[in-house]
Amino acid sequence: MSQKPSLPGDKIAIIEEFETGVNTFDDGHTIRSVVIGTSDFDKTNRIAKINQIKSPAVPQINDLVIGNVSALMNNMFAVAILYINGKPTHSGLECICQAKGAKKRIIARVSDIIMVKVISHLNGAIHATISEPELGVLFTQCNQCAGKVVTIGGNVKCVDCGYIEERKLSTKFGNSDFIKLGSK
Ligand SMILES: [Zn+2]
Repeated sequence: MSQKPSLPGDKIAIIEEFETGVNTFDDGHTIRSVVIGTSDFDKTNRIAKINQIKSPAVPQINDLVIGNVSALMNNMFAVAILYINGKPTHSGLECICQAKGAKKRIIARVSDIIMVKVISHLNGAIHATISEPELGVLFTQCNQCAGKVVTIGGNVKCVDCGYIEERKLSTKFGNSDFIKLGSK
């Protein structure tokens, strides 16, 4: 029963065989889907329709995203999305976060857990910001020994080896109730 979902524009039938039903249109020759969904053919009434699949969880503007830093680039970093507004998601989507001044200071490290806010969908990418007090790193470890860290000022200090490093910390740093934290 694993039917591949139709995408908007996909051909699902020809007009000689079926009439257009819900979530479809015809282009004069073929019936096509207008949504992501599974096709459903009413053979008695010869109507083709699409049962829309709830689209994969894509965070919208102003949504709070919590995820793992997956890559650091020059002036930005990527976050693998784990929670959207406190709801776990398994979409595998990433968002891109601008990190102004990242050359001068350490904003985050790969695998840090970070809270960001979505600001735009530009060129097919999800863009987010950390430029608010509660946004930023929620969880990190010592970059030298993977030990537990505590905050001192705007930095984190390893309780094992004493190594100190910068982060853009969230005011919620140390709170691991990610579901509650991200809920609006
Ligand atoms: Zn350490």
